[in-house]
Amino acid sequence: MAKIKFQSLIQEMCTNIHNFVNENEQISKEHIVDYLKHTADLISSISNEEINSYQTSNHNFVEDYKEIAKQTLSSYQATNIKFTELSSLQEEVITECSNVSHIDLPKLTSKFTDIQTNMIDEVNKANSIITQLSAQVKELEEKSNLDSLTKVFNRGALDTYLNKLCSQENIKYNFHLLILDIDDFKLINDQFGHVAGDKILIFIANILKKTLRDGDKVFRYGGEEFVIILNRIEDEQCQMITNRILKLISGNKLIYKGQNIGVTISMGTTKYVNSDTQDTIIHRADKALCKAKNNGKNQVVVELA
Ligand code: GH3
Ligand code: MG
Ligand code: MG
Repeated sequence: MAKIKFQSLIQEMCTNIHNFVNENEQISKEHIVDYLKHTADLISSISNEEINSYQTSNHNFVEDYKEIAKQTLSSYQATNIKFTELSSLQEEVITECSNVSHIDLPKLTSKFTDIQTNMIDEVNKANSIITQLSAQVKELEEKSNLDSLTKVFNRGALDTYLNKLCSQENIKYNFHLLILDIDDFKLINDQFGHVAGDKILIFIANILKKTLRDGDKVFRYGGEEFVIILNRIEDEQCQMITNRILKLISGNKLIYKGQNIGVTISMGTTKYVNSDTQDTIIHRADKALCKAKNNGKNQVVVELA
């Protein structure tokens, strides 16, 4: 793993410990020792295989992105050169016209039509290259398991991750699964537009990324739904985190084109039990989410096995 990645891991750990101390009113030395032990377990559980695969996939991802950026730049340069040529041709025609006493209108019209056709061709070519490159970026992001809008993990990544987690014989630590759904998102889209809706999805994903600890995972589960997996966590800590997320989202007003948009979310949470499969744990969290919606939204409901 790159040195910088380790540095950020350590910084994140320090922030987490700081938050942990601040948020627990009756903190004891044992709590801290326990917390550090969990963290040490987590770090020692990163296998060499994972480190290598992280390096390889990250390397390929960066290289592929660089290649697309290079192609975009050269296609942009080619279009620019062609446009400069066409503009100077246009200028030549105009100069030619001003130097003759009699203007041959049909000839002039045909020359301008040619120039215009060439320009439209160039614009079409550039547009088609941009479309192709955007599709490549999307494909790359799918492969890298990222959701292209919010840059959290996508649904495919959740399936792989959760399946692997649930198929382990004996998980020696607790993990909680949370489903988060934006309240009345359809209304927000209708009132402020789809672009504003997209910005809210990005805003929520960013809050989640910032609030969660290293080792926790965020996935975009569907349109306006996210799944969060909190690893190695006790019930009270889970409750603290979910309440914090709820408050952070409802307390932040998003300003879009001068308008204040208030957003709330509902959450269903559950804790993994050994007999769980991917379907049963998701089903339980979903059931809790339905209760949160039916109880009036902007709240968290816990459903245990
Ligand atoms: P509830 O509080 O019951 O969850 O109501 P809701 O309106 O949030 O739920 P509903 O399922 O009726 O509508 C979800 C909306 O989310 C509809 C859909 O257009 C919108 N949506 C889904 N994906 C996206 C997206 O990527 N961007 C935007 N802007 N909207 C999206
Ligand atoms: Mg929904
Ligand atoms: Mg919703």
